Amino acid sequence: MSKTILLLGGTAEAIATYNELQTLHPDWRIIYSLAGRTQSPETVDGEVNIGGFGGIQGLVQYLDDNKIDKLIDVTHPFATNMSQNAKDACQICNVIYEVVLRLQWIQQAGDNWIDVDTITEATEKLPQNAKPFLALGRQYLSAFDHRTDCDFIVRMVDAPSEKLSLAHYQIILGKPSNQAQDELALFKHHNITHLVSRNSGGDRSYAKIQAASMGQIPVIMIKQPKPTT
Ligand code: NAP
Repeated sequence: MSKTILLLGGTAEAIATYNELQTLHPDWRIIYSLAGRTQSPETVDGEVNIGGFGGIQGLVQYLDDNKIDKLIDVTHPFATNMSQNAKDACQICNVIYEVVLRLQWIQQAGDNWIDVDTITEATEKLPQNAKPFLALGRQYLSAFDHRTDCDFIVRMVDAPSEKLSLAHYQIILGKPSNQAQDELALFKHHNITHLVSRNSGGDRSYAKIQAASMGQIPVIMIKQPKPTT
């Protein structure tokens, strides 16, 4: 029987899930949904929703209007607002909620990680006058504003429309490399003393963690929030 699926994406795993579902069920209507954060996101060849739904109530309406049978949540492990809204809206509408979880990275021999629970804790772990590399989403950067002693290197996919509120920083535009050697060369070029990263898991952005290990650069690693299940 044909079904209508809402697939919450924004990750490489979400695209893989979409392609797999489409191959297995060519008659299903699968709507791939993105937050619309980046200018040229990786997407799928099919029906795409771009932009938020307007909180739980907006999503309830969307599920109802589109007669969604199942919502599959393949968002990033740190996209907790979307996941919680999705779970709650599905409960209200009696729609099946399925979540694809991503395992955290595990510290390996040679890694030097300082595990923290929150972004605030991460800001406190940087020593005076550090030169940290922030591999974080834009929404996390202002937490470091008070560290006026640090000289930050910030990697972003798109250039910000306004100046960042950090006191001292340089932006590197582009996506992370999947080659540890490239990431290490970048860290060395900028004399990076610390890497600040979320424990996102997955293969896509692991090269920077390997590079930090190779370059004996300490990683301030923000633990993954509890998954929405
Ligand atoms: P978030 O804080 O959980 O989401 C904030 C709001 O953005 C949601 O309440 C929702 O708006 C909208 N939204 C998020 N994901 C959406 C989706 N797939 N489709 C439609 N609307 C969506 O999430 P975030 O950390 O800002 O991440 C945004 C998106 O980027 C996620 O889809 C995630 O998979 C992707 N992504 C995030 C990261 C990361 O580092 N967090 C990394 C890679 C990719 P409404 O309340 O208006 O519905």
